[in-house]
Amino acid sequence: MDHSKLSRRRFISQVAVAVPVTAITLRQAAHAQDLPQVTLDDPTAKALLYVHDATQVDASNPLAARYAAGQSCANCVQIQGEDGAEWRPCNLFPGKSVSAAGWCSAWAAKP
Ligand code: SF4
Repeated sequence: MDHSKLSRRRFISQVAVAVPVTAITLRQAAHAQDLPQVTLDDPTAKALLYVHDATQVDASNPLAARYAAGQSCANCVQIQGEDGAEWRPCNLFPGKSVSAAGWCSAWAAKP
């Protein structure tokens, strides 16, 4: 087999893998915008002291002692979806979206 046929075959196989992955990513991005926004009375939100605005963290609560200015859902390791989106999926709130400006006591820095 000549080199050009091999390169073409390799290219086609790479496209065959890339197209479904891209389709899944786009589907997830579209789906993320459809997720209902988590509410403050959500049991998980309450348990984790979730707030829509990190500047509103109740610093008097010992469970929020880990909070430091600058922490938000947007820079948490658990956030999913598109950078820059106002509401995004979070691994801890399946089926819901959280405010990128929010915070909860499970916050951990993105690596
Ligand atoms: Fe926000 Fe991270 Fe808490 Fe999810 S785990 S709500 S992204 S701070």
